Formats: sequence, C-alpha cells, structure tokens
Amino acid sequence: MSLRSLALLALLASGALAQGTAPDATADFIRVTTFEPLPAPLAGLVDGLEASRLKAHIAFLSDPRREGRGLGTRGLEATVHYLQEQVQAAGLMPLGSTYLQPVPLREVRPGQGTVRLSLGKSSLAFRAGRDAVLPALAPGKLEGPCVYVGLGIQEPTLGHDDFRGLDVRGKVVIFRDGIPSGAAWRKAELLEKYLSSRPADRYDARLALLEKLGARAAIALEEGLDQRIRAGKEPALPYFLAAPGVPTSGEPPLARLALTPELRALLETAPEGKASLEIRGRVQTLQGQNVLARLEGSDPALRREAILLGAHMDHLGMPAGVLHPGADDNASGVAALLEILRNFAASPLRPKRTLLFAFWTGEEEGKFGSGHYTRQPRWPLATTGAYLNLDMIGHPWPAEALRSLVAEAGLKQPQAFLDGLAPTHFAEPGLSTSHRELGPILARAGRGTGMSLHLDWTDGKSGGSDYRDFARREVPFVRFFGDYFPDYHKPGDTLDQLDPEQVRRMARLVLATAWLLADR
Ligand SMILES: [Zn+2]
Repeated sequence: MSLRSLALLALLASGALAQGTAPDATADFIRVTTFEPLPAPLAGLVDGLEASRLKAHIAFLSDPRREGRGLGTRGLEATVHYLQEQVQAAGLMPLGSTYLQPVPLREVRPGQGTVRLSLGKSSLAFRAGRDAVLPALAPGKLEGPCVYVGLGIQEPTLGHDDFRGLDVRGKVVIFRDGIPSGAAWRKAELLEKYLSSRPADRYDARLALLEKLGARAAIALEEGLDQRIRAGKEPALPYFLAAPGVPTSGEPPLARLALTPELRALLETAPEGKASLEIRGRVQTLQGQNVLARLEGSDPALRREAILLGAHMDHLGMPAGVLHPGADDNASGVAALLEILRNFAASPLRPKRTLLFAFWTGEEEGKFGSGHYTRQPRWPLATTGAYLNLDMIGHPWPAEALRSLVAEAGLKQPQAFLDGLAPTHFAEPGLSTSHRELGPILARAGRGTGMSLHLDWTDGKSGGSDYRDFARREVPFVRFFGDYFPDYHKPGDTLDQLDPEQVRRMARLVLATAWLLADR
C-alpha cells in the first residue's frame, strides 16, 4: 500500500461533505450476528485455511534474508522463486506460457541536479544535496512558466482558495509549506492533511489538487530544508521508474527547495516567471517479475471468464541500510493468496469460472507490476469479471477508529452495529462505485464467514494499491485492507506485531468472495 491514500481519502471525504452528497449509509453497514452457512464445497475450503501455514509464509517473506523484498535485491529474487515453487507444488498452471512475466524497469542513482527560477530581474539556482530535493524523474530537463500560489491550498468550507482567478494548467506551481494562521485551521484532519511530518504525506492533498488543475510540476518551499539536508536527514536515495515510454500516473512531479526570507519577498513582488528543473543521475535497466498462475473453471462455457486475485510481493527493501521487513505490507496478503490458491487447487470441486492468481512486483515504488500487466494482460481484461486485491490484511481496525467510523456515518442505530462487535470481526472492503452488483456478493461472503462489513464504494482510480490500474480500465475491483497501524512503512512492521489469526479471518472473506464471484 502506498503513502498517498490516507490524505487522499480525507480529501475525498471532505469533498463529499462539502457537496452534501453523502448518501444514506445504512445499507452499506452489514452487521453479521448469525452465521449463514456457505454451500458445501465452499464451506470446506474456507475452513481449510490454517493460521500456522499463513504464519510460516509470512515468516519466510519477512525474514532478514529476504532483504525487505526491495526491487533489485536477491531477497526479492528468492521471493519470486519461492512463490513459483509454491504455485507449482499446488498444481496450478502458468498463466501464459510461463509463470513469470518480466516487467522492464529502470533504477536511477541520483546525481547533481539543479532547479533555476527566473523571477522579475532575478535568477536563482538551487542544487540537489545543498538546498533542493529533486523529484524522482528520469534524467533530463523540465522547463516552463511558473507561478507562485502562496500556500497552494483550496478549502471551500473555510472560504480559502489560493487558486481563485488563476489558471495553472501546464505551469510549474510554486507553493509554501504550511497552513494559514487561525483557530479554524488547527483541526486534527487539517493538520494531518497539510502538516504531516512525512514529506510524502504532507503534500498529498496539494498534489492531487494540482493534478486536477493540470499543473505540469510542483515546487514546495520549506524553511530549514538546507539545514536538514546538511544534517543528512534528506538522503538522495536511488529510485525506480517504469520502462521508457510508459505513461505516468499524471500527478505532477514535486521538487522541494529551501525557503529564505529573500526568496519569499521576491515571490510576493514577482509571482510569475520561468522555472527549469534539471535532473541528473545514472540509469541502469533491470527486470522485475510478476508471478502469474491459473486454475481452470469447471463450466465448459463459463471458464472463458475469469476472476483475478492479486497481492504485491515487494516491499521497501533496506533504505539507507535499514531493513523494512514488511510483514503486514504485504507478506500478509501474499501468504493469504498462497493458501487460498492451495485450497482451491486441492478441491475436487471448482467454481464455474477460471481463477487467476497474481503476485505483483514493484507496488511500493509505483505499482509497476500490476500496471505492466494491465497494459499487457495474459488474460483479456474484457473477460476478467473482477479483480480482488489483498494488501495489508494482518492488522484489524482499532476499536476507536471503528467507533468513529460508525458515529460519523449517520446510522439510525449506531449502537446496534457496534454492540458485541469485536474489531477483529470487522472489515471494510473497497468496491468500485460503478459495479453495485459486487455489494450483495460481499455481504453474502461476510455473513458466511462471520465478518461484519462496511462497504466502502470508491472509483479507485487514484487508489493506493494495485487495484488502481484495473479501476482505470473499468475492471470491477474489490480492495481488501486492514489498518494503517503505527509501524506502517517502518522497520517495526514485523511478524510479531501482527496476528496470523487476523490474516486467516481476512483470507476466509477473500476466498468466499472469490468463489461466489466465480460460481455465479
Ligand atoms: Zn506499502
């Protein structure tokens, strides 16, 4: 799961509230009090899932020898090998002529890049490693008209719009880090949206807005950035890109520059001018791998349609030498997928449609594996009935978050939903808004596996995991996800922090959903 989803969700939520479009929520909250038995073969499959086996996979994947499953590491290579072996041992066929799908990638080791601003009669230069942090782009030059927009914030409910009367389409937009003064801005959700301590989170909302407004690039001005660079807190780490020619996601690239009082004064008097970003670095090509497998459906006609299940196998690796084991993100989803496919393959009875299983590479660095697959699918997307995504399923919702979700949803009887509900038996699947027929299937899977649900309808096109590119191509999707726990994307995302029983509960829900979709 990638960083941007949280703030983006907040952004979307505030947008929906502002327009007064929040629909009646009651139908989307499914409280399961009595177990509704599943049909025989499916019930057996769901009960066949074992926490000990899930735990063993997570232990292998999050072992220090897997090196945090970073792109280009031997640990990720060993992971690919392990998954192929497991899939083969389960008796699945390759999807296409081999289990492996090569994903062409590039690794960039950043060098001395520069940013130049020409404002009024002044020309200023900023250097990477001194007073600038440059975007993760391919080496080259990006030039264009620039415009300074103050804080670059648009909050209609607070009557604040830094873009009023401005056309920023095609321009490099320069904004200052921070929020306006005043008590109205000190609300937790706004602080999280604009002042998160992680730079990657802090600018999420602004970049989503700038994408919508058609900006070409963004420049954030931060006080003290030069000092943080000198203190080694902003290391220029290698980064990864898709092969040349692959269209990027459309979010404008972001450079960060040190803000001085002189620069601010200059921008106030000369807010428009020209900007140029020169990115330097050494480029090396490398090849990632998706692991893809297939289990034929039982119905001679309907088996030409498929349900695809996917989980990303990669994680953050060892940035600056620190191991990020990624037990929840996403060894949990990979382990669940392995056990789901093993149980399906061992069953003498199969659903009518074909099941496809995908272990994606490069999700953390840019959803490269799933993106590549949607451009070069090994099963036509037109006959792919749904894509089910498993990413981070080992941590249940905290009780407090569940309470506030229910409180804010405007249910007529919120307490009836919460009474006696353990957070471990709650999930919030995300479903494509344009495919309402998914709702009853999820509800049935929840009732059959003892999971109460909130159906979170979303278009998914800016989604934070591998369902995004399927959503963009109008493939119906379901997103299975747990919680952003405190050690999310940190070295503390370890096996002992999560409960394999929780992975099992989520795996039961996914397996039931897959069966019901494939056997309709
Ligand atoms: Zn992640």
